[in-house]
Amino acid sequence: MTFKELGLAEPILKALENEGYKSPTPIQEQAIPILLRGKDLLGVAQTGTGKTAAFGIPILHHLYEGISLRQNKRIVQALVVTPTRELAIQIGESLTAYGRHTGLRNTVIFGGVKQAQQVRALQKGVDILVATPGRLLDLMDQGYISFHHLKFVVLDEADQMLDMGFIHDIKKIIAKLPPKRQSLFFSATMPKTIVELSRKMLGDFERITIKPEQATAERVEQGVYFVSKKNKPKLLAHLINERPKDSVLVFSRTKHGANKIVKKLGQADIRAAAIHGNKSQAARQKALGSFKAGALKVLVATDIAARGIDVDELSLVINYDLPNISETYVHRIGRTGRASASGIALSFCDKEERPYLRDIEKLIKQEVPRMPEHQFVDEEDTKEAPQQKQRPSENKPSSSSDHRNRNRNRNRNRNRNRNRRRNNNQSNQGNND
Ligand code: AMP
Repeated sequence: MTFKELGLAEPILKALENEGYKSPTPIQEQAIPILLRGKDLLGVAQTGTGKTAAFGIPILHHLYEGISLRQNKRIVQALVVTPTRELAIQIGESLTAYGRHTGLRNTVIFGGVKQAQQVRALQKGVDILVATPGRLLDLMDQGYISFHHLKFVVLDEADQMLDMGFIHDIKKIIAKLPPKRQSLFFSATMPKTIVELSRKMLGDFERITIKPEQATAERVEQGVYFVSKKNKPKLLAHLINERPKDSVLVFSRTKHGANKIVKKLGQADIRAAAIHGNKSQAARQKALGSFKAGALKVLVATDIAARGIDVDELSLVINYDLPNISETYVHRIGRTGRASASGIALSFCDKEERPYLRDIEKLIKQEVPRMPEHQFVDEEDTKEAPQQKQRPSENKPSSSSDHRNRNRNRNRNRNRNRNRRRNNNQSNQGNND
């Protein structure tokens, strides 16, 4: 299947060619025809699958086809609501790229910065508005945004909105939209509240599901190191030093943890920066900008802050902490191995995180390959070491003999933590950005 066969307008085909997109990704192949037919869509898919183009291209196509009707006036005809500033900026950039030859204009609005510049952009007129919920409601309440002519609305990363406590804002926004519209709803997971929200928002819809295991297992090589909390900084520095040319994204469960990792790396002469909710927007943009440009090789991020990170050359993701929500693991490793590339995702697992690992393996329906033993092993690991299921030499992500077993006499007891399954609490996640 080619983009041309999907029947897209010429200027869009030209832009996709400029972008180097040869053929649609699975989500694009499924979503674009449904959206071109004018149907509502429920997409169960995560970022990294080509989701932005899956909704962005048909919207641009419809708006381009109707361009003569708007008689040179720019009115907001499409709205994309997304949870984080980074993600909003990312979507705006993609829409600009895909719509480069259409004459359509988009703008992005988000909180944490002064509103004047965003208001000016709105007053100049835009066809597509990309927004985070808080700032959107704020500017709507101040009367800067009118949705009288809105034809398309996209709710992106709905589960993340729920985690971040945006559900009430979203309901308020939906209540103010014109009833006659095409609605698109995307979520990586579908907990009950999200199903209910989708029912409220969607009319006659079709559903497509891009399974996480398709997204992960096919493209991302995974591996897990068993390492104590204490030794994680040393192992991290070692892995980064092994790959001096690679861009590495390190995930931390908490903001405090992210800062600590940057400090520890600094002590090992590795320059890194952190992005999370406590950092100013300017600092986040600066760190992300130099990471994308390749000037900064190591970025440490919390889950929420990382949602918008889309770096073409991102070859390695390291989960410094294993997430207690299994779906988060899928989100994280999806940062590498983007639509066409392949990537590596390595995880650190201390003894308290082993139940999380089992939950993750259940979700992705595969075992994360055990990495070879490393030199940063201490008593704690030896006591609680899990049974090794795979020989080091069989592990694909293992890059070199540097990882060779340095502690061969290690006693591999069966994991005694089996009955210590934690009571994972979804709501924890929302506080961690
Ligand atoms: P997204 O899921 O929208 O964040 O997209 C993930 C990445 O895949 C982005 O870097 C896109 O530029 C890229 N991408 C999206 N669609 C395609 C395609 N059809 N071919 C190649 N790359 C794509």
